[in-house]
Amino acid sequence: MTQPSGNRESIHQIVPLSQLIQKPLHKVLLILILLTGCQSKSLKDRTVYVQPLGKVPVLLTDTIQKAIQHTYGMKMVLSQSVPLPPSCFVQIKSPRYRADCLIEYLDLQRNKKIDYVLGFTTLDISTTKRDGLGRVQQPESRYGDWGVMGLAYCPGHAAVVSTFRLKGDASKLTSRCVKVVLHEVGHNLGLPHCPNKRCVMTDAVESIRTVDHAQAALCAQCQKKIGLR
Ligand SMILES: [Zn+2]
Ligand SMILES: [Zn+2]
Repeated sequence: MTQPSGNRESIHQIVPLSQLIQKPLHKVLLILILLTGCQSKSLKDRTVYVQPLGKVPVLLTDTIQKAIQHTYGMKMVLSQSVPLPPSCFVQIKSPRYRADCLIEYLDLQRNKKIDYVLGFTTLDISTTKRDGLGRVQQPESRYGDWGVMGLAYCPGHAAVVSTFRLKGDASKLTSRCVKVVLHEVGHNLGLPHCPNKRCVMTDAVESIRTVDHAQAALCAQCQKKIGLR
């Protein structure tokens, strides 16, 4: 579950300090109040749009929708399936869809009433694995197009999850899928990786074992961070 460095988008519009200083104090205060207002929208007032991409089993979509609602208490909207955008398709190592491209695509579809979009597919998705400085990890032939279970910006408004690497029988696959979904939605809400290995926000370091070891729930610390406690 990769958490890319750097945000694609900021929650707030950035106002240069020089502009603020020139404005009368009451206008500056108004801007600050508006910014604080954006941050304080409680989870129960936020909406997640679940967007199946291509053919996805209805039962799986239903389960992940309920899991997000149960864990985060946000409102859910389930969309009809849409085809994966051909512009995100690559065939570098194997046929895949670029997760970052899908996130951009999903975010563009998002209307103002929707806070987060979760794209969901059974096909393989990939991204470029980078180090803390944003450089492609070496060897580039390995990490330039790196298959992932899910991807989300932290914070952000869109995430994508694929069942392709989750494997297992129906029950195992569902359990893994729920955890990856909860993890990526947590990133969108601003949660970083958690040192608690049982917490769903633990860094899976692309290992299915780590996913299996974690619970399908946030630890108390992570819950506190997003106002659930
Ligand atoms: Zn992560
Ligand atoms: Zn945690």
